[in-house]
Amino acid sequence: MAQVLAVGEAVARIAYLSSDLLISVQTSLSTDSEFSKFLRQYVDNKASSLICSDVPELQHIRHNADPLLSVYQAVRAGKLTTVTTDSSVLIKSIPHLYRLAQYPVVIHVSLHSAGFPDYSDITSIRNVGFTFLQSSSLQEAQDLALTAHALAIRSGKGVIHFFDAANSKADQPIAHESRRLVEEVLDVSLARQYQGMKSEDSSLYVSEGRPQVRDIGLRDTAELVEVKGDSTATSSESSQSSASSSSSDRKNSSGGASEAESATTVDSQAKPVSSEDIDFICESIWSQIRGQTGRKYSAFNYTGPANAESALFLFGSDPGLFAAEFASATQADFFRHVGLVTPVLYRPWLSERLTETLPRSVKRLAVLEQVRRKTTKWGPVLLDVLMTLKASGSQALPTIVGYQLGYLEYTTITQALSGIFQNLLAQSPIQNLEVGQHGGPTPSATSVNNEFQLSQPKLENAYMKILDQLFAERLHIANALGSKNAGVEEQSIKSSPEYGFGSLLARKEHRKRFVSEVEAAAKTRNFTTNSPQKWLSQWALAAADAEKANKLAPEVIQRLSTDGSPAASKLLGSKGLFYKESQWLIGSDAWAYDLGNSGVHHVLASGENVNMLIVDSTPYSERAAQDAARRKKDIGLYAMNFGNAYVASCAVYSSYTQVLQAMLEAEAFDGPSVIMAYLPYNREDDSPLTVLQETKKSVDLGYWPLYRWDPKAEARGEESFKLDSERIKTELQEFLRRDNHMSQLMRRHPQFHAHLSESYGSEVRKVQKRKAKDAYEALLEGLQGAPMTILFASDNGNAENLSKRLARRGKARGLKTVCMAMDDFPLEDLGNEENVVLVTATAGQGEFPQNGRNFWEGVKTSTDLDLANVNMSVFALGDSHYWPRKEDKHYYNKPGKDLFARMLALGAKQIIDIGLGDDQDPDQYQTGYGEWEPKLWDAMGVGNVEGIPDEPPPITNEDIKAASNFLRGTIEEGLQDKSTGAISAADQQLTKFHGTYMQDDRDLRDERKAQGLEPAYSFMIRCRLPGGVATPLQWQQMDAISTELGNETMKLTTRQTFQFHGVVKGKLKPAMQAINQALMTTIAACGDVNRNVMCSSLPELSDLHRDTFHYAKKISDHLLPSTTAYHEIWLKDENDKDVQVAGDAVQDFEPMYGPTYLPRKFKITVAIPPHNDTDVYAHDVGLIAIRGEDGKLMGFNLLAGGGMGVTHNMKKTYPQTGRMFGYVDKDAVHIACEKIMLVQRDNGDRTNRKHARLKYTIDDMGLEEYIRRVEELWGQKFEEPKPFHFDSNIDTFGWQKDEKGMNHFTMFIENGRIEDTADFPMKTGLREIAKVTKGEFRLTGNQHLILSNISAAELDETKALLKKYKLDNTNFSALRLSSSACVAFPTCGLAMAESERYLPELVTKLESTLEENGLRQDSIVMRMTGCPNGCARPWLAEVAFVGKAYGAYNMYLGGGYHGQRLNKLYRASIMEEEILGIMKGLLKRYALEREEGERFGDFVIRAGVVKATREGRDFHDDTAEVEEDE
Ligand code: SF4
Repeated sequence: MAQVLAVGEAVARIAYLSSDLLISVQTSLSTDSEFSKFLRQYVDNKASSLICSDVPELQHIRHNADPLLSVYQAVRAGKLTTVTTDSSVLIKSIPHLYRLAQYPVVIHVSLHSAGFPDYSDITSIRNVGFTFLQSSSLQEAQDLALTAHALAIRSGKGVIHFFDAANSKADQPIAHESRRLVEEVLDVSLARQYQGMKSEDSSLYVSEGRPQVRDIGLRDTAELVEVKGDSTATSSESSQSSASSSSSDRKNSSGGASEAESATTVDSQAKPVSSEDIDFICESIWSQIRGQTGRKYSAFNYTGPANAESALFLFGSDPGLFAAEFASATQADFFRHVGLVTPVLYRPWLSERLTETLPRSVKRLAVLEQVRRKTTKWGPVLLDVLMTLKASGSQALPTIVGYQLGYLEYTTITQALSGIFQNLLAQSPIQNLEVGQHGGPTPSATSVNNEFQLSQPKLENAYMKILDQLFAERLHIANALGSKNAGVEEQSIKSSPEYGFGSLLARKEHRKRFVSEVEAAAKTRNFTTNSPQKWLSQWALAAADAEKANKLAPEVIQRLSTDGSPAASKLLGSKGLFYKESQWLIGSDAWAYDLGNSGVHHVLASGENVNMLIVDSTPYSERAAQDAARRKKDIGLYAMNFGNAYVASCAVYSSYTQVLQAMLEAEAFDGPSVIMAYLPYNREDDSPLTVLQETKKSVDLGYWPLYRWDPKAEARGEESFKLDSERIKTELQEFLRRDNHMSQLMRRHPQFHAHLSESYGSEVRKVQKRKAKDAYEALLEGLQGAPMTILFASDNGNAENLSKRLARRGKARGLKTVCMAMDDFPLEDLGNEENVVLVTATAGQGEFPQNGRNFWEGVKTSTDLDLANVNMSVFALGDSHYWPRKEDKHYYNKPGKDLFARMLALGAKQIIDIGLGDDQDPDQYQTGYGEWEPKLWDAMGVGNVEGIPDEPPPITNEDIKAASNFLRGTIEEGLQDKSTGAISAADQQLTKFHGTYMQDDRDLRDERKAQGLEPAYSFMIRCRLPGGVATPLQWQQMDAISTELGNETMKLTTRQTFQFHGVVKGKLKPAMQAINQALMTTIAACGDVNRNVMCSSLPELSDLHRDTFHYAKKISDHLLPSTTAYHEIWLKDENDKDVQVAGDAVQDFEPMYGPTYLPRKFKITVAIPPHNDTDVYAHDVGLIAIRGEDGKLMGFNLLAGGGMGVTHNMKKTYPQTGRMFGYVDKDAVHIACEKIMLVQRDNGDRTNRKHARLKYTIDDMGLEEYIRRVEELWGQKFEEPKPFHFDSNIDTFGWQKDEKGMNHFTMFIENGRIEDTADFPMKTGLREIAKVTKGEFRLTGNQHLILSNISAAELDETKALLKKYKLDNTNFSALRLSSSACVAFPTCGLAMAESERYLPELVTKLESTLEENGLRQDSIVMRMTGCPNGCARPWLAEVAFVGKAYGAYNMYLGGGYHGQRLNKLYRASIMEEEILGIMKGLLKRYALEREEGERFGDFVIRAGVVKATREGRDFHDDTAEVEEDE
């Protein structure tokens, strides 16, 4: 038979069987409570419940997140709800408990035992109206848990079942309560009645609770009333406190009488449940249990002789131990022949039952209450007992003596009992004796139960670290968890704002006294030397000024130390006070709930100069899901209303700089400061990526705006309110201008308010849908012909364009066409449409594109959508080769097929069969579409309409270029348009030539859409930096641009340049101008032109590098476009007439490119052997520097036709390595490059961008022919290539000295991202270095950074700075050092999967395997990209992962170590688990089987894991994963 070993399990099982909803309150979501582990198991196993028809819902809630708030909604919805918790949450939840008592909620409470359990957690809440049951053993826990649930169901009222789990640790295992017994006792049919009675009430504070089901389990009402009449005094104390509870209730609720007290109060109304009812129900439950198990229960438990004269009433732990002591007492013991009473039913307190239980012979009664803090002179249990026995009146009142019980060690129990009974039996017993240790056990006696320690996520340390960085030794945190400063053991006290505030005030007072002492001392002549006086008076003057005081402090201390007088020693006794601390109170978001807010209020109201940092951790998505009742107060607004506090709202994962600023301002502000710091997490072990994404959503959508408010700023002539988050700036500022009263913000702009209403987004969406549809209908009015509604779901625009085209062509045939995204169509209108055509692309793993997902959900799940009058057809777009594995084939065009089938199932009639467009067809999806469309017109009777104008051909990139007037387009106009963050589609193509791409933040797409907002558009700007060499000044300028105009980070790219992200449209022009002021440009950094020319960084050969770099720059300059549009658009100053171009009068001329530029991008790189750190084989032109016999640069071997971009599963596309054209002298090299580019300009494929790169032109034309044409144009010939040799394509980290004695340090910048984090302020460090160094910054092609040309004189200082900012650390695994990733999410529009944000995590997960196999120092080139565009040049890596869908990657193996050989597909669409499995296996084999010096890429080929790819055209052959052709 199954056995139960622990109380947690016994309770969890009964709770599971008896509930619809289980709320598991936990100190940490990543650490189980004693119940949650079992609850989770049952849910995971889908164990059947007796109450819930399905699997009960399990919610895990942190104990500091006001957990009982979650109960309201559920109980109102008729859900039988159970909470499992420790007792630490109870007192804080009193207001909820009063109200929840009116519902059949069961709360199982394990007494919190920080040292020993404190029963005052129970006595303090005894009057909240719940019924309280106590269990003291494993078996009791199971039986009373069942009693609790049955009692809740039968009485309709809340029950708290509490216990000290430690009591039963040594208990023997017990058998499971049989399901049959549980079912019988619970009374399932009665439970069903409750479940069917949904409360209409929707306010948080209800007064009446749920109606009680009266006719079950309770006695006849008449009898009840009669009994009530007799028993008005269940206890006078309880009636008293009921009255007080009632009045407090009224204070909090919006009126109406509270009946919270009804369970313990008797009145003549019929509805409340009386204590007799509870007594009656308990008796009936216990008799059922007794009948089946023989186990007896009653309201009070008595053990001991029936004629005992003394007894002990215990309200505390270990009754079993006490009973055993009594049983084994000898004649010599004071406690021989005594009885023990414990309450089982604690509330309602049934006086009658106690009098029945306690033998009449008892003359003396000791009442032990185990409480940690005593708040009243007489313990509440003592009063209960006293009143009962007094009221019974039938016997002489025994002598009652109260005791406060602390922690009792097992070995001292006899002694303690002797003391208790000796006192009890004394002539005049002493009341309120303390027994046991009140501080709890000494650490050696028992280990403190860690489960109850407040758990905080590691991430939360971010803010602490920043405080630490800013204020270092000056930092004093008054209530830091785990801090020695706190000095109080009780965790909840220690972390409360009140406690910390008190301690801070004391500390300030202390320092104030000290300053007076110093002032006084400065005036005396008590010192041996003269200098202390002078320094002390100086210091005393500056004591309040942190900066001055702290500067003087060491001087003063030093003078005092050498003085040696008693006066000096006295002051030195408090030498820490010479420094002025930065004092902080740190709080969690629990402070923001109603219950924790008073402390914040207290601090604000005091006006004291105290800084508070309140960390809020509610994730945006949790906010959306949570009960509307789970609301927090917005402390920021609250504090601003106070008017005297500095207030800031910040988020470290959104703006690090703003956090720094806020903290410094708060510290400087003379008065209270409140910083609301956001750090959202669902679980304590959330990855930083999740936290980042949640933060972004919150900040972007205004749930967590970033701002700073300084009420004293106005007096200084500054603005008091500064909004630091970009997107709501205008709106909020406008509001502030109109009305400075912040509280109105909540009312009038709900989107700024933390309590953003859940329905807001959907409301907006509905209105928008309706408007869009109405507008169309208005447009169509008056048109003749049949209606046709075209709805599309499109992610890359193809389905949308196709739909719009279909609509135009339909209209031309006389149809009334409407065309919109599926999600913009009101689903409820679908049944009224006559003809519906649905066009959908296929996203991710066969899913609907984003703008059709809600529509599909609606269609899929709707039960009442009647489409009987609808005619429809579907056209689907997909790629039949996208899923190479047979079992995944069904994903091909899955959304379209599903939709078609579902529409038919809902009664729609097909106009024609579904059409399938396949990217693999000769004209891609157009092939299938071309066949399908005419059939549609025929079926709709408009196939033979005469005189239809020809559809204009779709606009191509070539058209855009040609029509752009040398790259002007309407960019200028687009920039002026303030109504959108976007620019037009054509301009998006053109701005690329100017070095900027429009992007949108993909982390935010869904949320913004849900709120009816346009995507979060911003721009990426790429600089042009030939050879990747920047001066220190340029570095500082770039740093400033990223901070002020971008997203505070910079990316060092694989093409050795700076890239900024997150530049919003309004800041685009200032950013471009700032870049130009830094003597850089962005022209032709992207677009169909020659891009930034790369050059090996080569730290060790200075002269050669300088020469080669010179030629790289020369080529770059030579191939620049000539258009003046760049200057005109970005750099013209409204006042600078010189650069203004009048109208269209001035036409540009592009001698080299012509009006349509190149068919595709064109990339040139230079590598200096033996370093192939710029991947010379991967570019359109790759130049290998050749040294002459004099060691100087002589010329270049020229490779051409390399390229990385590929389309998944489109075999016509492939990566390619450059082919050898021959040797060119250095002075002719720029011309050779030009001629190669020109042949490509004239011969590249301008009809298909996927086939337009030079690699295809060369392959199509043939290498010899291409070379011939270049030579013909050039008038010169390539020479035979010179010998060269490459070693690797990675960087050499650490210090190197060149031939001139200059020093170069290559530092590791993971994936090129320059940013500050709390752990690693890298960006700050580099900025500080740039301010002082005379060297230069070289960006490497692997996205790292070389601090170059550091002279011997500068070396020490540079090393110290590198060390200070941890930039000197290159001690990473060789795999990490050799890895690189592209940007991908969130900014890259093409990304299918994470890359830069994920690769570091993946490497971390592989590092233990590397260690195990001794490979930590072995370099393996590993690269990742978010899509097959290949920005991080993955196809040349030894192992590569290329994004296929979110979380899924294609894996490639076998690239050459120095970038000379392409790799080959090994597995398609694999997820992390599989990746790790494969990699771990391969690494192990590599370690065991490799030959001397053999590289990983070579090994996997020799070992037969993959075949070698000889060149691009066999890239798709012999892949390990079979790619089927259909
Ligand atoms: S490889 Fe793809 S996902 Fe990565 S940055 Fe380039 S285009 Fe974006």
